[in-house]
Parts: sequence; structure tokens; C-alpha cells
Amino acid sequence: MNLHATPARATCPRCLRPQATCLCALVRPTRHHTEVLVLQHPQEQRQAKNSVALLRLSLARCEVRVGARFAAADLQAWLQRPRQRTWLLYPDVHAAPAPPSAPAPAAWEVAADPAAGSPPRLVVLDATWRKSLRMLLENPALAALPRLALKAPAPTRYGRIRAARRADQVSTLEATVQALALLEGPAFDGEPLLQAFGDFVAEVAARQHEHREAGMALPR
Ligand SMILES: [Zn+2]
Repeated sequence: MNLHATPARATCPRCLRPQATCLCALVRPTRHHTEVLVLQHPQEQRQAKNSVALLRLSLARCEVRVGARFAAADLQAWLQRPRQRTWLLYPDVHAAPAPPSAPAPAAWEVAADPAAGSPPRLVVLDATWRKSLRMLLENPALAALPRLALKAPAPTRYGRIRAARRADQVSTLEATVQALALLEGPAFDGEPLLQAFGDFVAEVAARQHEHREAGMALPR
């Protein structure tokens, strides 16, 4: 018998994080009608500072799939739905140009579109900038989607816990909130969720500080 075996850490059944870092108290149910599909890179899944768990629990219509490469049939089923417009939240970049025939939606166009029988769908890549580009290049069905780009992303609240690789790179939660505001207009109020995210960032930073003081390895 190994007396030094580490017991499995208790996991919160709702947010799926260790009980010590459960974020359920921060969840802010947020009204929205766009369906959100997050494709999460596996490296992001276990990051203590990842913003997607808070996003998923705060949005009633938010689905998360984990992977870097997806089967074409799976992507087809998730992305191609009859009478539903789907947008990829991603800029038109030289390395992966947006499809030419798909103009970006004007503000509120999607919400106001009477022809749209079912709510629009927003696909979000949760990965570092480099890995998200790779996901796009390795999954042609994603690259073929019409793009929704944030014109002027607000400054990120990640602050001390995560250095942005680019000045315009914000957390997945913040980018999604900005995209929903663009798609749904004044009917969407993402501010309480952004504030909750700010609290989450502060908690993670405090834990990192404690661990550093104690000379322990940083929690993941
Ligand atoms: Zn929890």
C-alpha cells in the first residue's frame, strides 16, 4: 500500500474544476439568443485561468467541444444547420483569408434579420493566437465560414495573469461578449458577466501570488 498516494482532488460537478478553485459563485446568467459553439484547444481545457467555464455556465446557449482537429462529419453537423446563419469569430487574416462571398454582418443585422428562422450561431475558437490559426488551417470547414471580426476589441481584463500575445488579443469570454453585443445590439447586456470575469481574474491572480509566496508550483 502506498501511503503517499495523492487522493484524487474533489471536483465540482458543475464547473468541473477542483473544489478549491470552483468558480460557480461567479456565474452570471446572461440573456442572449445567439447559439454559441466554443471549439476549445485541448491545451486550454485544464488551464486554471481559462475563461470558457465561466462563459459556458453563464450563457444558456453555449456548447463546448474540445479538440484541435475535428472529423469533417462532426464539423458538418455542428456548423451546417438549415435556416441558421453561422459566423466564425475570427479576423480576416492574410494566413487564412475570409471567404470572399460572405460579407461581415452589420451591427444587429443578424438579430434583426426577419428571414432568419432560428437564432444565429457563433463559432468561437478557444486557443492561443498561433493555435487558433492552426485550428483554422487544419479544419477547412471552419475557414470557409463567414467571419465576424471585432473592429476595436476592448482592453483585456486578463491583466496580470496572462500576457496577451498581441495587443488586440482578449480572452475568449471577453471576445464572445463583444461579439454578442455586436450581433444582438442593446438587447444584450454583457457587463455583469465582464465584471464577474474581472473578479475571476483577481481570484486567480491572488492564488498565483499565494503559491509564489509559498514557493510552490503554480496551480494549473
Ligand atoms: Zn463549481
